[in-house]
Amino acid sequence: MINIIIFGAPGAGKGTQAQKIAELHKLQHLSTGDLFRKEIKNKTDLGIEAQNYSSKGELVPDTLVIEILKKEIEKHPESSGFVFDGFPRNLNQAQELDKMLDEKDTQIQAVLALDVPDEELINRIKARAKDSNRIDDQNEDIIYNRLDIYKQDTQPLLDYYKQQSKVYKINGVGSINEITDRLNKVIDKLV
Ligand code: AMP
Repeated sequence: MINIIIFGAPGAGKGTQAQKIAELHKLQHLSTGDLFRKEIKNKTDLGIEAQNYSSKGELVPDTLVIEILKKEIEKHPESSGFVFDGFPRNLNQAQELDKMLDEKDTQIQAVLALDVPDEELINRIKARAKDSNRIDDQNEDIIYNRLDIYKQDTQPLLDYYKQQSKVYKINGVGSINEITDRLNKVIDKLV
């Protein structure tokens, strides 16, 4: 199995790139943000609970995140690997992921960290807000809150993966295809 984390701040292009990488390498794309948005749309109990947090740009509690993630992993027992997008977002989630993968006798091979300057992140989210109906993209305070939480809770995770020599920093500025090519150069060495 090949398991990859596409890592980066909100607006770094994780979703777009994770989808392309998953298609190209026949891996399962797993976005916790997409999973929550689906639950919210369907007004499930989990969705209603998650919305209390995601609408403010806050992280959904780990118990809910792990629950939704486990369910999704179990749906794809034959998968040749996963491209994680928006997960893990803190150390506890990373450790839970390691446990889950360990049970499947596999592990994370690479953390591909998309590097995009803050100013560009904010411009991209604002541009995306025009044609997406993501409420967390529409309000400047919420955007800044998401960036702060990323810096406080998520970015330090890079140290956890650096200690395992799994981090590859990728320039996340350029055309979509250019960035995919940069990611592929790393992935091709893993497979
Ligand atoms: P995303 O599409 O990855 O930006 O996620 C949208 C929102 O869903 C986030 O702002 C969080 O509220 C929630 N969310 C997604 N993934 C996670 C996660 N791994 N941990 C906690 N909350 C998450």
